[in-house]
Amino acid sequence: MIITLAPEAELQRVRAELTRLGLWVDSVERAPTGPVHVLVGRGSTAVCVAEVQRIAGVQSVSTPETKHPLVDGHGPELRLGDLLVSTRRPLLIAGPCAVESESQIERIAAKLARVGVLALRGGAFKPRTSPYEFQGAGKQALSWLRAAADAHGMKVVTEVMSEADTALVAEHADVLQVGSRNMQNFALLKAVGASAKPVLLKRSMSATIDEWLHAAEYLLSHGASGVAFCERGIRGFDGSTRNLLDLGAVALLAEVHRLPVLVDPSHASGRRDLILPLSRAALAAGAAGLMIEAHDEPEAALSDGAQALTPQALAPLAREVNERRRRDSGARSALAQEGIA
Ligand code: PEP
Ligand code: MN
Repeated sequence: MIITLAPEAELQRVRAELTRLGLWVDSVERAPTGPVHVLVGRGSTAVCVAEVQRIAGVQSVSTPETKHPLVDGHGPELRLGDLLVSTRRPLLIAGPCAVESESQIERIAAKLARVGVLALRGGAFKPRTSPYEFQGAGKQALSWLRAAADAHGMKVVTEVMSEADTALVAEHADVLQVGSRNMQNFALLKAVGASAKPVLLKRSMSATIDEWLHAAEYLLSHGASGVAFCERGIRGFDGSTRNLLDLGAVALLAEVHRLPVLVDPSHASGRRDLILPLSRAALAAGAAGLMIEAHDEPEAALSDGAQALTPQALAPLAREVNERRRRDSGARSALAQEGIA
């Protein structure tokens, strides 16, 4: 942001006012004659240009043109058909890491639906570090997943790994998941965007926030109907947890950028004993939902069993999440009755 001061402005007072607003002055350019330019590169609160303009001595304020206008205009909600997702109406997405068989996904879907999970996850195509590990059951798994979700009135969230599979995955899923390893696969982002579906965009394990926002801009500029960001842990230095859950990024996206951001505590921690505490922390930080791996026989899972909860262990969290959703819809309908919303 460049702030131009009037000739009579008192620089020290302007600087103090800016700091009070949470804006930190990077440099001041003062020509021997002519205007004074104050450069503010960062803030410690969301910037309100109108407030800066009200400071005595400020002549004009110019903000750099945004590089991701569609993301900036997206707003804090994601619509999934009849479901609205936001911080006030968080969504719990749960299911196995991988769809392993028709009976496995049907069984797990039934148990999850019973504890109140509204969206079913499960990978048909799995991005595995080793080519010798289970790669997913492929196309057939998409039909199993869809059928299991439909039988229990759930939405489907599943990962698409290749442009070639995008149309088929879009036919079966309510939300297309772009995995961490593909966050900057721009050809895939364009194809996924063109499906005009809502997208769950996982953060790459080494992506900056700026890169993440730009990846979402690719999706939106190619037609995605909405994007939910998903923080799933970044590379840390300590092996005690699989990744390092960046809750600062969650709060930043939710509070400052006002975007829907979900948290995946399964991949973030790699261990089931941390899933519930991290989920509660995520909701407190403003998460619009959680994506959690769930399996009814985690010890027999073909992938990521160590970070999966049983549907039964997930039940208290599902109740908490649904209680928040109910509270918000209750509040909204009360306001509607009073003609306020
Ligand atoms: C997943 O959710 O199944 C997955 C592979 O996650 P990530 O892309 O975050 O590693
Ligand atoms: Mn997994």
